[in-house]
Parts: sequence; C-alpha cells; structure tokens
Amino acid sequence: MTDPAAWRFDNSLIRTLDGFFVPSAAAPAPAPALTVFNDALADKLGLPGHAAGKEALAGWLSGRDTVPGSDPVALAYAGHQFGHFNPQLGDGRALLLGEVIAPDGRRFDLQFKGSGATPFSRQADGKCTLSAALREYLMSEAMAALGVPTTRSLAVCTTGEGVWRDDPHHGAVLTRIAASHLRVGTFEWAAAHKGQEAVERLADYALERHFPERMNAPNRPLALLDAVADAQAALVAKWMALGFVHGVMNTDNVTISGETIDYGPCAVLDAYSSGQVFSSIDKNGRYAFGQQPLVCRWNLYRLASALIEAIAAVNVADTEQARIMLEQWPARYDAHWLREMRSKLGLAAQQEGDIALAQSLFAAIEGQSCDFTRLFRALSASLSEGYGAVAAELADPEALRGWYESWQARLGQEPCDPVQRAAAMEAVNPVYVPRNHLTDAALEAARSGDLDQFSVLLAAVSQPFERRAGLEQFEHGAPDGSPRFVTYCGT
Ligand code: AMP
Ligand code: MG
Repeated sequence: MTDPAAWRFDNSLIRTLDGFFVPSAAAPAPAPALTVFNDALADKLGLPGHAAGKEALAGWLSGRDTVPGSDPVALAYAGHQFGHFNPQLGDGRALLLGEVIAPDGRRFDLQFKGSGATPFSRQADGKCTLSAALREYLMSEAMAALGVPTTRSLAVCTTGEGVWRDDPHHGAVLTRIAASHLRVGTFEWAAAHKGQEAVERLADYALERHFPERMNAPNRPLALLDAVADAQAALVAKWMALGFVHGVMNTDNVTISGETIDYGPCAVLDAYSSGQVFSSIDKNGRYAFGQQPLVCRWNLYRLASALIEAIAAVNVADTEQARIMLEQWPARYDAHWLREMRSKLGLAAQQEGDIALAQSLFAAIEGQSCDFTRLFRALSASLSEGYGAVAAELADPEALRGWYESWQARLGQEPCDPVQRAAAMEAVNPVYVPRNHLTDAALEAARSGDLDQFSVLLAAVSQPFERRAGLEQFEHGAPDGSPRFVTYCGT
C-alpha cells in the first residue's frame, strides 16, 4: 500500500522554464472540510488516499497545511479572450503544487483552484465558490468517464470562509490533475514578453512532455504545432459527438496536451441546436456549439503566430508547411469527427458518403427540439423496435424518416447482427450526461449543505453508458416550460 503521507514531486517545469512562473502560496483555510474526494483517482495516481485520514487530506487540500514536498508556483500566460489579446493573465486563482509521476510512469500536474490571490490575481480574490468547484469536479469526471481527454478532479474542500460573488457563497478549493497546464496562452505570453529563445525552450519542453515521439523531428516547433493541431482536432471532434459546449474557448483555456480544461459555463446540449450558447458572457455566440471547430482552428492560428519565428529560425521554408497544415486542418478535423460519428451510428467500415450521411442527420434535427443524447440511444433501440423509437424524440415525428431510410440502406451494406450492432452503439452513446437542470439542482442543494443529489448524479455520470434502475430521472432533458438554461460562473 502507498505510504499515506507520500507525495512524490518531481518538478520538471520549475527546472526547465525559469521565468515562466512566480513562487506563491495558498491562503491558509480557517476551517477546512473535505467535501468530495476521488479515492479511485488517488489510487490510480499513487497519491495518498482516504487511508491518510480525512483530517490530513482536508488540511493539505484546502491549503491550510503545506503538501509535503510541494513547491507551489503560479504560472504566467497570456490569451485571446473573445478575440482580444490580453498579454498578461496567468494563474490568478490557481496554484501549481508540482508534478507527480504516476505508477504507470505518466507525469501529471497537481493544481489548486481557489486557494487565494497570486501575483497574477489583479483586483480579484483568487477564490473559488463551492458551486464552481463542484461543477468542475462533476463535469470533468463525467467527461473522463465519457472517454474525452480532460483534466481530472481529485478533491473539493470547503475552506470555512465565505466568498462573495453576487451573493455569499461557501469558499472551496478544487484540486485538479492535468497532463500539464501549458496552454496556447503560455506560448502567446512567451512570444509577447520573452522572445524567440524562450519560445524555443517552451516548445522543446512541451514536445518532450506531451509528444516525446516527435522529439527527433527536423523542425521541433513545427512538429509541436502539428501535434497540437491534431490533439485539438481529436478533442473538439469528441465534444461535437457528445453535444458538449465548452463556453469559453479563449486561447488561455486551450491546452497543449489536448485535454479539456477550465470547466466554467460549459454544458451538454439537451435539445440539439447548432447555435446553442449557454454562457451569460458569450453575447455574440462566438463559442456556440456549432462554432467550436472554427474557433479551435482560430486558436491554432494564434499558436502558430506565437511559434512562427521559432519555426522560421530552423528553416524559413517550413513556415509554408505551417500555413498549409492549418489551411488543410478542416479535413483533419472532419476525419476525427467522422470516426466518432461512424461509431455512434454503428458503422464499422468507411464509405464515401458517410460524412454527408452524418452531417445530414444534424441538418434534419435542427429545430426539432430533439434531445442530443437520447437521439443516439433511440437509434440503437430502433434496430429492434423500428422507426417509432426515433419518431418519439422529434417535434415532427416524420422529420427523420428520409434520413432514417438512408441510414438503414447504409447499414445494409455492412451486414451485422442487430443485437451486436445495438450493443456497439450503446457502448459509445451515453444514457447519462451531466444535464444542466440536474447539475444546477445538485449544486443548489450542495450550497445548502445537502450533498446527496450531487453524489447520486456523480455516480450516474461516472458510468454513463450503462442504464441502471433508479436513475430514470437522469435520462430526460429539462422539463418543458423550464427557462432556457444559462451558465454564469467563470472558468
Ligand atoms: P478564466 O476565464 O476563469 O479562465 O480566467 C481568466 C483569467 O482570470 C485567468 O488569469 C484567471 O486566473 C483569472 N481569474 C478568474 N477568476 C479569478 C478570481 N476569482 N481571482 C483571481 N483571478 C481570477
Ligand atoms: Mg482559464
């Protein structure tokens, strides 16, 4: 068994990227209490778990007691926020405790969110509300269970302190795990403030940490751009296949590793609509559901801008490679999206018209108030029950008839036992997703001290593909007549 007090740090970023961080410390929490702890994750990562005792965990994971061996720093970064460049952001309410190597050899960051002001906090308090911490915990664990690359959540601790937003909240610290916290904005910061040598050092560090197989590439900054372009294409394709809306795809919220990060005003669609926006701050729909692949590419152009001098320094001609790669990026994204959609639709082999078939499904359900998640389970159910299973999900029951017949014809070209095909589809199309109205209700109850709803919802979304008795309420979209859902918290 792991020594309950063993935190084994190995801080490669501090060793390598001098000038990219500022030492900082967590604000001491007056009365910490452990609200949620992810024992399974702690075990997988070789971190102290419940065996260390709740009191010790609460002390460490609230910032009251120094995590043994940690060397906390706040990372500097910049970012394009809603299209506008902000040259100086940084960890304003986060603190990197350090890096740990898991038993499987993978290196990860351990970070606090909400542990108080840092040199990058500007006028803000550096704190996090219990609701925001629990929201990120729930969303990130749901995404992990859905097979989406994501930061993970280890714990939420209340601090015993109040935090003011529009009204009083319990303060909390979220402890999260990430492959790293390097962002597109980290490169923008280096390019804006530190010059080419620093960008090269950062690119080498990022490549070695996340894409070591590419370290021998002739042009390493170009190899990094290519690797991130692919990782982000794969990531956003998964979001689009799930109906996930990130909400704030600013370049400071885009990781180099390709993990989803900074869950704030994010949501999973109930009724499908390509223009759906949830975030109260996204007035113009820049980060609407259907915009996400376009925005992803826009963000990759920002990474390319930050890397371009370093790319040119190796070989000027390679800048043309970068240009072509981003010009052709939509095809790369489409290939990832099509792979996701083929498995959602029960198709094994690739055929010429598949992308048109997948795209026309979404065109057909636009305006149909069709629940994104339920539709795909209805399609697998229809393999034994017929079109009626699908019709029941639509405002106009006939709206998908034509598409359905094309899909049936396509399935017919790939003969397969319908029971087996339905099982394969059900293994990738979830029953339980963290729906807005459920998440909201669970967080509201948690705010008044009742964590039961949160725990049941967390258990449901942690095994999203397997329908279980007693969880029927989690299968449905928001009740008719409920107000359009809006998410308010920051990321
Ligand atoms: P976000 O939109 O949450 O990704 O944050 C954008 C920037 O604002 C980052 O530099 C954050 O660290 C900073 N920030 C957000 N909320 C706070 C807060 N409560 N205190 C200090 N900095 C914050
Ligand atoms: Mg952020």
